[in-house]
Amino acid sequence: MAFCLLPAGCGQEQTFPEGSTMARIKERGVLTVGIKFDQPMFGYKDPSSGRITGFDAEMARLLAKELTGSERNIRFVETVSRERENFIEQGVVDLVIATYSITDTRARRVSFTDPYYIAGQDLLVRVGDATINGVSDLDRKTVCTATGSTSIERLRQTVPSADLEIVDAYSNCVPALVAGRVDALTTDDTILLGLLAEHRDTLRLVGKPFGREPYGMGVPKQDTAFRDYLNGLIGRWLRGGEWDRAYMATIGISGATSESAKPATRAGTGGA
Ligand code: GLU
Repeated sequence: MAFCLLPAGCGQEQTFPEGSTMARIKERGVLTVGIKFDQPMFGYKDPSSGRITGFDAEMARLLAKELTGSERNIRFVETVSRERENFIEQGVVDLVIATYSITDTRARRVSFTDPYYIAGQDLLVRVGDATINGVSDLDRKTVCTATGSTSIERLRQTVPSADLEIVDAYSNCVPALVAGRVDALTTDDTILLGLLAEHRDTLRLVGKPFGREPYGMGVPKQDTAFRDYLNGLIGRWLRGGEWDRAYMATIGISGATSESAKPATRAGTGGA
């Protein structure tokens, strides 16, 4: 490999410190990733092919390629919002890449990488419902969201008078919203955009984000070496075109643009 001077593109050639998570995954030959299965554009299990698609899946594939030499050496484990810390702590997965907002509370139990994506909380409502045009219209409305999410916490704080319908996965909110059993679905804008794609005739995105949600990859609390390694990769992907290609292949298909979603890289990170 005459031109393999940097970690970028060197794949299997890399050596990692003995006993490190990176070395263990390379040795095992398979990366195990906790991801969502029901969020089109981020983490979605295609019912016909079984393939996991979306931006989070693309990040996972880039990582599998770095660690094992092939993006195919990957095992995806469905990880709903409330299981993320548990799965990391119990070693069910090597890391979680699952629309996972970096928060101080969560950071007491897990270590987060630098942000690799910035979302914002928003609302999905029925097309025919003109009464909801922002979060302040949710007084005494029934709002569906997922347990273990920042969406539920922020809504509770912002509109305490809203009635919450709490489910395990956001996809369960969609039939309830379409059928009129709830008035709105709230979570991150890009998740809503993915859920909206199949319901454009009946649902609409309000489009007034009311909170910033920076996504990090979650690893075991003490594993700062793995976190630092991932930060190097994320910086490199943000600068090197991998991030943009992943965006265009997933969220970008909807016509959305990445300005507000793409994090700035920290000077001095990047691993290359
Ligand atoms: N990003 C938010 C969170 O981590 C909401 C989306 C989700 O639940 O995955 O809680």
